[in-house]
Amino acid sequence: MYPEEELKQVAEEVSGCIKCVLQYSRKLAVPGEGSPRAEIMFIGEGPGFHENEQGRPFVGAAGKYLDELLANMKMKRSDVFITNVVKCRPPGNRDPMPEELASCRDYLERQIQAINPKAIVTLGRYSMAHFLPNAKISNMHGQAAKVRGRLVIAMYHPAAALHQQSLKSTIEQDFSQLPILIAQAARIPENEEKEPEEKKDLKQLSLF
Ligand code: URA
Ligand code: SF4
Repeated sequence: MYPEEELKQVAEEVSGCIKCVLQYSRKLAVPGEGSPRAEIMFIGEGPGFHENEQGRPFVGAAGKYLDELLANMKMKRSDVFITNVVKCRPPGNRDPMPEELASCRDYLERQIQAINPKAIVTLGRYSMAHFLPNAKISNMHGQAAKVRGRLVIAMYHPAAALHQQSLKSTIEQDFSQLPILIAQAARIPENEEKEPEEKKDLKQLSLF
């Protein structure tokens, strides 16, 4: 299947999805948007108020700031693909719950498979945890890891940077390194963290 078709299929499924309780706080699902053949994929947390109204990712204040960060690298939204770990708005913008993240996981995996990007940039802890469940954002931000053969680069969430002046210079510095990290991809070793599935199996085993 062409990436365009698979992304369309995912978007259709997401718009009627009833796999978790976030279906009830959804006005419009936000599957993600951008180039189906993007080299870089940005993954945020979940839709907020404006995203839920418009069905598009990162269109509020954090989105404007993300546009700026992209523009600093001479990139436009249409050059990349932008999505979130949960596709429906958590009520009152609360953090997504583990069971919601688990329910939505497969949609994101299918989008990654379809686009096959050179690099994945995670925005915030929930997105980083999808790939690096044990990492700490304060240690990992601005750094790249290989996860299941893919280059993953962790960044602070642009909304956090907007609210905390000290993080603003950090995120801008981290973004400025992005092209270099991507160019060095071949030299970055595979991360040794266990995948969440393996961890779950181990936990289950230890019950007996
Ligand atoms: N914050 C996110 O994490 N995602 C969006 O789409 C908008 C704001
Ligand atoms: Fe389905 Fe994801 Fe929306 Fe939950 S957040 S209802 S899993 S699309």
